[in-house]
Amino acid sequence: MSRIIVLSPQEARRIAAGEVIERPSSALRELIDNAIDAQASHVTIHLKAGGIEGITIIDNGIGMDKEDLSLCIISHATSKIQRVEDLDHLSTLGFRGEALASLTSCAKVEIISKKDGHSAHRLLAHDGTIQSIQPTAHPIGTTIHIKELFYNIPVRKRFLKSIASEAKDSLQIIHEKALAHPHIAFTVTLDNKEKLNLPVTSLAQRATTLFAQQLGNNPLVVFSEQTVEHDGFSLQIIASPPHLYRNDKRYIHFYANGRRIIEYAPIQALLHAYDTVLPGGQYPSGFIFTQIRPDLVDFNIHPAKREAKFRNMPLIHRSIVETLQSKLVVHTPTTSMHHQY
Ligand code: ADP
Ligand code: MG
Repeated sequence: MSRIIVLSPQEARRIAAGEVIERPSSALRELIDNAIDAQASHVTIHLKAGGIEGITIIDNGIGMDKEDLSLCIISHATSKIQRVEDLDHLSTLGFRGEALASLTSCAKVEIISKKDGHSAHRLLAHDGTIQSIQPTAHPIGTTIHIKELFYNIPVRKRFLKSIASEAKDSLQIIHEKALAHPHIAFTVTLDNKEKLNLPVTSLAQRATTLFAQQLGNNPLVVFSEQTVEHDGFSLQIIASPPHLYRNDKRYIHFYANGRRIIEYAPIQALLHAYDTVLPGGQYPSGFIFTQIRPDLVDFNIHPAKREAKFRNMPLIHRSIVETLQSKLVVHTPTTSMHHQY
């Protein structure tokens, strides 16, 4: 009798699901990414008990026909890439085909979707398998309900934090996604109470709405000289004027191609640019957005895509310092505070 057994596919899927879906906010992150990838212009999110009891996400994106609906919950099933080489010109947030498969292995999932020219269908699934798929009525787009998260993974369920804490994490993910995608309207309710209602707007306006306290109503808005076509990357930075400093670095965030990445170099560059206008211990808030040519970045190194590898980080670093410093010089109190952006 061998000591080693091969886990049943169902158990293996449950275990693998834990790598992608750690808590309600990670489910939410994947679901919002999918709505963005489906080119939605409006995303509505309802959370129950911080997402522990339920997540509903409604988008007006391209939707799925019956066949896609029956495939979308299979592991490694994706419409976004066909082979590894496609990562060199990736334009979507998703590419692994793992999120819906994982969610279906650790929660009860209902997906209702309609694609233009096709009839709407409702899929019910749990434990990695489809329970039913039936015709229904739904406008073009997709509605997904996630219920009883981790009902079949007790160890994961035990490690969930308080409702308030999970709600906070979930809202933080929504803020991150909404910030990077100002061309999408977001409506969010927490236990039936409206929490956010964001119309379509510009990046600077979305940032000042979401981070009013940190940025004030007249933040620095700077663009790099570099362009994706010429230099492989472009930058837009929205940062606090020096008088709105903080004593922590909590609100210095870096985004690459629409996703927040945990990477110190750009944060260090932003801090460096403020060296001349802020004394030690006083820190700005700032949001750095870069668009990078897909072949210069690898997002395929972290399950939650929180980290990435950049081939041109030294150039990005230098550009952050230079573009910000030129703006900060004119922003210091000795010159006009009403400088036009
Ligand atoms: P990935 O996003 O990596 O492709 P997912 O498991 O998140 O993998 O989704 C699987 C597939 O299901 C996607 O490739 C897409 O074709 C489809 N899909 C998922 N969510 C939506 C949605 N909101 N609207 C339209 N299609 C979707
Ligand atoms: Mg996805």
